[in-house]
Amino acid sequence: MSQPAPIYLDHAATTPLREEVAEAITAATVDGFGNPSSPHAAGRRAKQILEEARERILALLGAHTSGGQRDRLVFTSGATEANRLALLGAGAAAGPPGLAITSARDHLSIRSAVAELGRRGWSVAELPLAPAGTSNGQALAAMLSAGAATRRIVAVTLVCSQTGIREDRASVSAVAAAGSGLVVHADATQAVAWEPLEFAASPFAAVALAPHKFGGPRGIGGLVVRGGTVLAAQMPGPQELGLRGGTEAVPLAAGFARALELAAAERAETVARVVDLKRRLEAGILAAAAAAGLEARVIGADGSRAPHIATIGIAGTDRQAIVMAADLAGLCLATGTACASGSSEPAAALVALGIEERVRQGAIRASLGRTTTASDIDGAVARLGHVFCRLRP
Ligand code: PLP
Repeated sequence: MSQPAPIYLDHAATTPLREEVAEAITAATVDGFGNPSSPHAAGRRAKQILEEARERILALLGAHTSGGQRDRLVFTSGATEANRLALLGAGAAAGPPGLAITSARDHLSIRSAVAELGRRGWSVAELPLAPAGTSNGQALAAMLSAGAATRRIVAVTLVCSQTGIREDRASVSAVAAAGSGLVVHADATQAVAWEPLEFAASPFAAVALAPHKFGGPRGIGGLVVRGGTVLAAQMPGPQELGLRGGTEAVPLAAGFARALELAAAERAETVARVVDLKRRLEAGILAAAAAAGLEARVIGADGSRAPHIATIGIAGTDRQAIVMAADLAGLCLATGTACASGSSEPAAALVALGIEERVRQGAIRASLGRTTTASDIDGAVARLGHVFCRLRP
């Protein structure tokens, strides 16, 4: 018997490369093959393609692209490296160690960079979450005003990769506006495809993103750095304004710009469609669980969530068993972020939200994307229905 075509609901892990982006990458590979640091014609052409991509991305993110305090974009290998450059780079800038704050909303790359700051003499604090799953603005203000540290670094995540819960940007902005000696870094990796960043008007000193989350290439990411923000390079070299050494990936930068351009142009239509599809998916999964005699709950259902991520706790089950059984049935799901997949540790974001262990243990993440269709959703619900019947305790 032939296997049914796989249904991919793991767009928060990565997305298929768009054809238009592949074309842009191919064109830049041929046209911009030179090393952008070379002073000859081939190098100058590569440099031109690279700088055009940089300017287009900055403009699409609402950053300052001209004037004395121009914002910068540093190309990195992905969002992990961008997060590390922001946090360790700010930490290594001149001055005594201070206070670094992270929360359970943050990706492992942020939490491990903050832990590294701790090993370098910084005080490290964990920001509690508000009941809605956002950063707790009041707790943040209290933490910042309590200590004697003159240097403070705060990491926030605009869309939590585990739950899809959006950050309360207004409350973070209010706290950031009141702070001096404060660097607020935002991880926008799961957000940029779905909501405008408006970097110039934001309180962020730096923002991390990666285009493979919205139809762009893997192997490249970016850190937007506000004009005037001082960072120390983590990989020294003359490229990228001295902030990131190594020959730049010119074709990937061109693909990054093209993917962001398309995502921004299609955002309103994609958001509307994916919001509907996610609603249909969540209702279908809850009904399938109920039909199998299982209790299920959408995590963060009452809060403000990005359109594409649904985390559903199937109480009394084992999330790894569901994901494996779903895979065998031709459905690609996740338990949470891909870098923590297979981990027996509970997801920090779910623990911080106070989700009981029996629900947390059975929490699966389905994430949708631009290419998801209604028939994918109906197929996913049907396949999960079979899985649930077999897993019934
Ligand atoms: N930050 C968030 C919120 C993410 O979801 C991810 C990837 O899942 C990353 C950072 C790391 O991105 P990359 O795989 O490009 O390093």
